[in-house]
Amino acid sequence: MKRRTIGLLIAAILVPALLSITSCSLISRNEIGRDDFVPDFSQERMLETIKILSAEDGGRIAGFAGEKAAAEYIARQFREIGLEVSEQSFPIKAFTCNNVSIDVISDASKKIEGAKALTYSAATPPGGIEAELISLGMGTADEYKDKDAKGKIALIQRGGEYFYIKTGRAYEMGAVAVVFYDPDGGEAVSATLTKLSAIPAISISHANGEMLENSIKDGDSVEIRVMVDSITEDSTSTNVIGLYKAAKNTGGMRVIVGAHYDGVDTPAANDNASGIAAIIEMARALSEQRIPLPYDVMFVAFGAEEIGLVGSTTFVNRMKTEEKESVLAMLNLDMVGVGNSFELYTVDEGSSIRFRDMAKETLNQMGYDPAILATDRSDHAPFAFAGIQALFIQAGPYDAYHTDFDTLSAIQPEVLVKVCEFGTRLLVDKLPLWVE
Ligand SMILES: [Zn+2]
Repeated sequence: MKRRTIGLLIAAILVPALLSITSCSLISRNEIGRDDFVPDFSQERMLETIKILSAEDGGRIAGFAGEKAAAEYIARQFREIGLEVSEQSFPIKAFTCNNVSIDVISDASKKIEGAKALTYSAATPPGGIEAELISLGMGTADEYKDKDAKGKIALIQRGGEYFYIKTGRAYEMGAVAVVFYDPDGGEAVSATLTKLSAIPAISISHANGEMLENSIKDGDSVEIRVMVDSITEDSTSTNVIGLYKAAKNTGGMRVIVGAHYDGVDTPAANDNASGIAAIIEMARALSEQRIPLPYDVMFVAFGAEEIGLVGSTTFVNRMKTEEKESVLAMLNLDMVGVGNSFELYTVDEGSSIRFRDMAKETLNQMGYDPAILATDRSDHAPFAFAGIQALFIQAGPYDAYHTDFDTLSAIQPEVLVKVCEFGTRLLVDKLPLWVE
């Protein structure tokens, strides 16, 4: 209380000139009284974390050794910082693909490189599947009305509905495989079907997709062969939890700051080694300076996000009702290392507005004007659906996610520093107002 009063006085002396030119309420660190917190976020440390986590292409796919090694690395970091570390394991279906190919049998001069299997794509027989290719636009139900996909391989564009819905529909309509491409993209995307599909589903580059579309338009039958050598098996993944204890936890409240550490079959530097680097660095700053907070902060590195938010869903499902009620807010960081602007996502227009407004104000005060959007495709979603104020921050624009260009060289460490500043402003300056 005392510090707050002093802070207010200092603010009153220092800021009248600023107040005269700004109409919004000026909440600064000084007003809340934690002016002793001057975080020293290290770009080098964050880059080092991303370098280690993204060293291997496809190195953090859920359920395999690389994801487990990443979990151990994160647990070690949390422990070194002085957090109380616990782990939460859960069963998953691990998926890996050894080989994918696509050949144009009707015109061998047409070569298709860089095809990828979607996660949980069914495998083909060893010799592949050969069939005629049929163009189905976006793959909506309408597209099938006057076309016969039976026994054919469906060429479908990305966008709108989920891949698993489009793949399931293609199967129901009799297609024997699906080839996806992104009409607005570049390289073949990596994406998940969330569970094992009935037919193989692969993605190819935009250019290759156009080339196949044009071949079909030319009128001749286009015969292709797709080959997918994939494995789907029972495995486990883990959430790694680092607890930063409250100085005085009067109400038993907690704030959750999360980021997923698994990746798709890419180096996965920005998606999402960047988020992990940022939460470790935020935790370090709080811990090193022993910043007193009126709640526990749980830093959670989620496993198995890319295969369908499995880690965060498990985390929420295993919370008792009173534990859910004790969560003041949940902040999710996913792809925070590239770009010149920020996006704030809730799951829909109507939820988590209070936390979103606080976050928006914080970014405004840092000189940013974040885009306000909605999505349920990252780890904030299970929390929001459980009634928790949950928000997802992303930096952007960033087109290279889920491609092999998602590498360390794309990362802008100054963006990571801004994200850490944003997160700690919320934790240290803003969210305490909800409990104090
Ligand atoms: Zn991600």
